[in-house]
Amino acid sequence: MAKPVLLSVDDDSDVLRAIERDLRSHYGAEYRVLASDSPHAALDLLRQLKVRNDRVALLLADQRMPKMDGIGFLQEAREIFPEAKRALLTAYADTNAAISAINDVSINYFFLKPWDPPDQHLYPQLDDLLDDWQASHPPVFEGIRVLGTRWSARSYELRDFLARNHVPYLWLDVELSANDPETRRLLDSLGPEGANLPIVLFPDGTKLLESVPSEVAQKVGGFRTRAETSFYDLAIVGGGPAGLAAAVYGASEGLHTVLIEREAPGGQAGMSSRIENYLGFPSGLSGGDLARRAVVQAKRFGVEILSPQEAVGLRTEGSYRIIKLVDGSEVSCHAMMIASGVQWRRLEAPGVDRLQGAGVYYGGGATEALSCKGEIIYVVGGANSAGQAAMNFARYAGRVVILVRGDSLSSTMSQYLIDQIKHTPNIQLWTRASVAEAHGETHLEEISVLCSDTNKIERVPAAAMFIFIGALPRTDWLANVVQRDDRGFILTGPDLLWSGARPKGWTLERDPFLLETNVPGVFAVGDVRHGSVKRVASGVGEGSVAVQFIHQYLSKV
Ligand SMILES: Cc1cc2nc3c(=O)[nH]c(=O)nc-3n(C[C@H](O)[C@H](O)[C@H](O)COP(=O)(O)OP(=O)(O)OC[C@H]3O[C@@H](n4cnc5c(N)ncnc54)[C@H](O)[C@@H]3O)c2cc1C
Repeated sequence: MAKPVLLSVDDDSDVLRAIERDLRSHYGAEYRVLASDSPHAALDLLRQLKVRNDRVALLLADQRMPKMDGIGFLQEAREIFPEAKRALLTAYADTNAAISAINDVSINYFFLKPWDPPDQHLYPQLDDLLDDWQASHPPVFEGIRVLGTRWSARSYELRDFLARNHVPYLWLDVELSANDPETRRLLDSLGPEGANLPIVLFPDGTKLLESVPSEVAQKVGGFRTRAETSFYDLAIVGGGPAGLAAAVYGASEGLHTVLIEREAPGGQAGMSSRIENYLGFPSGLSGGDLARRAVVQAKRFGVEILSPQEAVGLRTEGSYRIIKLVDGSEVSCHAMMIASGVQWRRLEAPGVDRLQGAGVYYGGGATEALSCKGEIIYVVGGANSAGQAAMNFARYAGRVVILVRGDSLSSTMSQYLIDQIKHTPNIQLWTRASVAEAHGETHLEEISVLCSDTNKIERVPAAAMFIFIGALPRTDWLANVVQRDDRGFILTGPDLLWSGARPKGWTLERDPFLLETNVPGVFAVGDVRHGSVKRVASGVGEGSVAVQFIHQYLSKV
């Protein structure tokens, strides 16, 4: 943790050097001693310290300075660091001014020049002031700080990215700064730059204005987007449960493995607040936890994880499978696994697109749960994912309304979740209902709901709406290479055989393996596969099983 600062200000360089020397010799081990010969420069320095999230314990200023006197400086400095102890250095002649400053502008102490010997005239009094300061001053948050507004899609995207990648950060909502003087002071210190939201402030004092996830990833470190080598035994596209399982099994069995993930390892499962049906975790575990553990496990076996990085094309050259990445680079491999899962289907209703990220969210929006304290929120959809989200939001929101088109949840949701919902008093189920429109200028304020019973539309207040209405694969980048069904799910194994005939262009003397596509050596697992069971355990199972087929395939390449 950075040491708190003691700042002295004096235009007389001899006095400044003397006070700096005395402070450093006595307090240097615990505090950072800074000095400035101009009050204006010292104020600039304090603004920089505020942006860096540094702590200032003491401000010590000479009273007689030409452009701004010590009292004036301490008054302005108080606006930036109100908790810092403030002391004046005065000549005997200024004693009266110093005494009235104690009364009028809350100066904590004044020292007469010269203060020799400091053991008598400086340190005992400063010790008292600094003890006081320490006692009332808890250590500050030392990680990344994100400044933005709750209703901005860009701020949401950034927070979601950091949360899903397990990067700790402190969120500062500038719209609430009127109630939070510390955020107000930080914004003042940023000056005009404070308008370029979202802003990410790093502990080293640097900042990113109007920042986007890829820039933040680069700066935070720990994210790798470029492959170490150009060739791998196994390249996996997608870091959800299926891809991560394949990576762990592949690498643990000696395959040189790379995993390419567009957003954050964990996939859909990473958005789940509590997975309760995964074997071996009787009290459930959060998707974020599962993802974090799997990533550690994969890395332990030497898997290279490129994230955020996106696969945008595939071609074959002899036995090589070559994956084109969004930044124009390529990764080639002998065996490839497509584990790219599914993405949320869009809700087609006026206002929904415009307010996405500003009260309308696809998926769990785990980062939003805390912001929903006491509010009325809507969860749209009747599957397990919607049920889990409703249970999670019910811990914070005043009321959670689940909107479903059908008569009940029984055909779409697991019974254990239906039971939990029934016993949660602030969750309400609204059946035979669908969203007709989302309303709000800068953020969601109301929704119109079409009730299929009465064919009437009801307009109701809504602080947030979370949409869970099924999902589809995004596999267009594989078109013309890999066979897909009419909804984009990838065909594998027996699904590729039409009346026993092998797929067009297939030249091997065997049928495609169980999880193999129409391109030999290219496999598909998990939710992206035609006919898959959409569960964490089945994705993990398929990812692990496919590795056995990959070994068989590689033994003949
Ligand atoms: C909120 C929620 C709760 C759920 N709860 C449960 C539960 O309790 N129990 C249960 O069994 N199942 C649950 N599920 C379902 C389960 O999470 C999925 O079945 C499972 O995650 C599918 O795993 P997957 O690896 O096939 O795909 P996904 O999890 O969808 O992962 C695919 C990954 O591929 C990445 N990707 C996609 N395209 C590309 C590309 N071109 N380049 C690079 N990367 C790409 C995506 O960013 C994503 O990270 C839940 C799902 C959700 C959304």
